[in-house]
Amino acid sequence: MRLKSAIAALAFGLLALAAPALADNPANWSQPAAPFRVIDNVYYVGSAGLSAWVIKTPKGLILLDVGTPANAPMVEKSIEALGFHLSDVKILLNSHAHFDHAGGFAKLKADTGAKLEASAGDRDALEKGVYPGAETRHDFDFPPVTVDQVLKDGDTVSLGGVTLTARVTPGHTAGATTYLLPVREGGVPHTVVFFSSASVGFNRLAPKPQYPGIVADYRKSFVLWKSIDADVFLAPHAEMFDLAAKRATRGPGKPNPFIRPGELQAAAAEFEAAFNRALAKQDAAK
Ligand SMILES: [Zn+2]
Repeated sequence: MRLKSAIAALAFGLLALAAPALADNPANWSQPAAPFRVIDNVYYVGSAGLSAWVIKTPKGLILLDVGTPANAPMVEKSIEALGFHLSDVKILLNSHAHFDHAGGFAKLKADTGAKLEASAGDRDALEKGVYPGAETRHDFDFPPVTVDQVLKDGDTVSLGGVTLTARVTPGHTAGATTYLLPVREGGVPHTVVFFSSASVGFNRLAPKPQYPGIVADYRKSFVLWKSIDADVFLAPHAEMFDLAAKRATRGPGKPNPFIRPGELQAAAAEFEAAFNRALAKQDAAK
């Protein structure tokens, strides 16, 4: 199944990361990709492997994620290639505080003057520029960035009449945040979900958990994702939502391949099964 192989690929990527002598970051993380409009006012400005999203509003742009520190100039070029100016970027949002999604924020903030809004749970990692759970891996560090506004679960982020809703979905990080955005295509309303991620990665679940309550957090987030009614599933890693296959069939006069009801639920179920396997393994190793 498509998603299973994607999650297997991600697990492989993390194994590769865990063995620096054997492999570096996945090649598609730093591979450039042409920016494009995904749906309505949502644009893709990430690399081939790491997502970054622009949400256009009448009062400027919201940028959700940026990729690694090295990806920041590429994302800036993609924003400009779409005809926007860096000074249009007013708000920065983050799926979760890891170097491969938040690593370039310090540069983006300096170059745009935008304000970073993030959950309390991720604030510390963003402001220290560290990867909780892999503190000894200094290649996972990133330039620290100040959080200007702390978001709680259910808070909204508004600019120019466009409003995203923040749902704090902790587990993968202590403050991982899923964002929801209503959009329209051909007059039909849709809901975009920007998924925060849910893999176990380097997190310790047992016997000494990464942070108190991490297992309950994952479980609560799985329940929440399954309850969300969204039909455009976008995620931080290209493999999680079949970016390459979908963009290949995106074109005028064709149905938008990014409208796929049920993908969030399918992803949540796959990640939940992977989480349960990882938990059983870590429990058994006690
Ligand atoms: Zn991550």
